[in-house]
Amino acid sequence: MEANHKHLPRPVYGDSPIFQMAVLQLLSVAELIDLDQNILERLSKPKRAMIASVPIRMDNGKTHTFIGYRVQHSLTSGPSKGGMRYHPNVDLGEVAALAMWMTWKCALMNLPFGGAKGGIACDPEKLSMEEKERMTRRFTEEILPIIGPRMDVPAPDLGTDEQTMAWIMDTYSMSVGYACPEIVTGKPIELGGCIGRREATGRGVVYCIMQALAEIDVQPGNATAVVQGFGNVGAVTCQELATRGVKIIGVSDRWGAIANPLGIDVSALNKHIAAGKLLKDFPGARAIDANELLTLECTVLVPAALERQITEKNASKLRCRILAEAANGPTTPDADKILNQSDIFIIPDVLCNAGGVTVSYFEWVQDMQQFFWDESQVNQKLEQLMLKAFQQVRACAKEMNIPMRMAALSLGVRKVAKEKKRRGLYP
Ligand code: GLU
Repeated sequence: MEANHKHLPRPVYGDSPIFQMAVLQLLSVAELIDLDQNILERLSKPKRAMIASVPIRMDNGKTHTFIGYRVQHSLTSGPSKGGMRYHPNVDLGEVAALAMWMTWKCALMNLPFGGAKGGIACDPEKLSMEEKERMTRRFTEEILPIIGPRMDVPAPDLGTDEQTMAWIMDTYSMSVGYACPEIVTGKPIELGGCIGRREATGRGVVYCIMQALAEIDVQPGNATAVVQGFGNVGAVTCQELATRGVKIIGVSDRWGAIANPLGIDVSALNKHIAAGKLLKDFPGARAIDANELLTLECTVLVPAALERQITEKNASKLRCRILAEAANGPTTPDADKILNQSDIFIIPDVLCNAGGVTVSYFEWVQDMQQFFWDESQVNQKLEQLMLKAFQQVRACAKEMNIPMRMAALSLGVRKVAKEKKRRGLYP
């Protein structure tokens, strides 16, 4: 590994611990699969990154400049693909790491895309609808030269949603002079969005969890789950798990955590939140400390929030049998070392949360063809692709006697490496 340290991030990506984490993972995989050093040299850096000032008029009449980023890690397999994140912690290093993970995810799922990610450092909770619209449109305008249906296709991520995608689609369409739904995925259905896209990530997580439960020989009806995060991914995961008989015994969001060993009524919790109340005030459970949540005893632990939640500090305290990584990068490499010594079954992020980008691919294909599928087609195809990927990762892990994460990453990295080799180095 030492010899490889020249591949560690250069100052351009700052000292970003999250980008370091992504590169360290790549280095371990490279060693494992004996990756060509010339290919590693290329894969360890993003292809292209843009930093843009996004000045907007705030509602109070003052001008505020937000900083936006779009990083395209790879364009080898097709357009780059990945979400747009609105969160105060967004920086170049985080976006670059997330873009790299998107490359491995798309490759693992065999989608004709490379990886990208973008975002704006802001707190969307503190912005009005009008401010968010102005910020999104101005940012889209700034990144126009590097996005396109055949170049880079954004999608929702933390802090963004269908409405954000509608603004990006409209801004792009106004600029090119015709309606261009295929510029983004995760759009509203009436603008060419795909039925089931909103639920896709959570559904994919649950398809993987069902497979993992079968691996450890536990019936869903006898299983319990703890879910960190109750956004688009966490809430759908809870709902879909509950439908299959899994008891949800702990949930959290950015304002607090709740637990109930007898089970949390997920539909009632959804109604409670839809009524504008805080998750931590839900009457059907008791409020607990957010740090306590991850170490509750359960069958399945689902981190569905931010990166680096499971670290060397809490990894040895986990009391789950399955760790289903619905978030991107929730487990640090140090924590991974600890978990690999335990018998916790890990469903790594690039596999576990790949349902979102998979249905994004379906959406892009439908928009390009202007031929739309029904919901059962979408869900059936999603389940089929998720199960196939799960089985491939499982088989690779068994065959090479390596952890699930290494298996998933090596399948992804190997595919991109092969394509790069075939295409060659230009000029
Ligand atoms: N933001 C999602 C992810 O991290 C989805 C990306 C997409 O659909 O392009 O996988």
